[in-house]
Amino acid sequence: MKNIDNYDFTGKKAIVRVDFNVPLNEKFEVTDSTRIKAAIPTIKKIAETGSVILMSHFGRPKGQEEKYSLKHIISAVNELLGKDVIFIDDCIGEKVENICSTLNKGEVVLLENLRFYSEEEKGDKVFAEKLSKLADVYVNDAFGTAHRAHASTAVIADFFPTEKLFGYLMQDEVNSLEKVLKFPQKPFTAILGGAKVSTKIPVIEQMLSKVDNLIIGGGMMFTFIKAQGGNVGSSMVEDDFLETAKSLLETAKKNNVNIYLPVDSVNADKFSNDANISMSNSNSIPSGEMGLDIGKESIKTFCEVIENSKTILWNGPMGVFEMDNFAKGTISVAESLVRATEKGAFTLVGGGDSVAAINKYNLEEKVSYVSTGGGAMLEFMEGKDLPGVKAIRG
Ligand code: AMP
Repeated sequence: MKNIDNYDFTGKKAIVRVDFNVPLNEKFEVTDSTRIKAAIPTIKKIAETGSVILMSHFGRPKGQEEKYSLKHIISAVNELLGKDVIFIDDCIGEKVENICSTLNKGEVVLLENLRFYSEEEKGDKVFAEKLSKLADVYVNDAFGTAHRAHASTAVIADFFPTEKLFGYLMQDEVNSLEKVLKFPQKPFTAILGGAKVSTKIPVIEQMLSKVDNLIIGGGMMFTFIKAQGGNVGSSMVEDDFLETAKSLLETAKKNNVNIYLPVDSVNADKFSNDANISMSNSNSIPSGEMGLDIGKESIKTFCEVIENSKTILWNGPMGVFEMDNFAKGTISVAESLVRATEKGAFTLVGGGDSVAAINKYNLEEKVSYVSTGGGAMLEFMEGKDLPGVKAIRG
């Protein structure tokens, strides 16, 4: 398969879909440039021999709203790239075509926000064709939007029957996720946490057909514990999903998957860091108290399972880690993942809040891979074919 390293960009113009949807402050300055940084290796590599036309969405504009112009991020891109990009205040049309047709080796163009045209999200063919006309080769390096069949993320690829490839970031994401989901070394353990079961049912179902061990923590644990007849006090529970939780536990049994639910919990009398704190078994939480973290015994068992695994996937915090008093479970799991990685396991962390947690504890370099694509990663875990991946690989 063609990739960034084996493709000859000499004399070619590459149109590169990046994810520059970065947060800005009220002065329109970039406050977190992680996504721009992530695309730099691909841009630099292409610019060594060819020229680059960057396209991205930015926020959710209604029409051409100035506050959603990509002009606000030019200086951040220039700084990270180490050279000035040529910004064009549109992404299709005569002006864009004229500038792009005369690009020299090493030059990098940044097009205006694709979502200034509603055709982008509609996956409009004519719009995609207009974008495709600007370049000789299509590169997709925007994993964060790979689950969307938009004009620039999927439809455009039809106009490059052979000249289409993944950028480095996209390639790394796909390789890491497939390593875990398609070719895991056993024992394979998934750790799922976060607030609700309801949003993770398809993921849990997929995991039950793949893993040896499934560790469940976070708010969602209480729906499982209540489904088994436990008293969970005023902990977060989704009563509409008690039957679902029961049937997921039965599926686990049928599939010989070991389920690890927390045996103890750290409870609070209110949802606050300065609440009164007590410990109890997770199935006998006093009324009026809520479980906001997993307890010591649970941490011990979870860490043992993690450190005896060869492949580990972690999505979702074990407790309300944003409050220091309820962060111990999440920190302990993060540190356990680091120890497992040191022992040679492949460890993948993905999904918004577990990524935020691993970054908060500065452990992101000590696990095998941190996936940046929240929604895309979840859909991949649900076993779906991502349009952005399919468009390139077929
Ligand atoms: P999610 O977006 O579903 O992954 O959920 C992440 C959120 O779940 C985080 O903001 C956590 O604070 C929250 N969370 C984790 N454990 C609990 C819990 N025991 N009770 C309430 N919220 C929780």
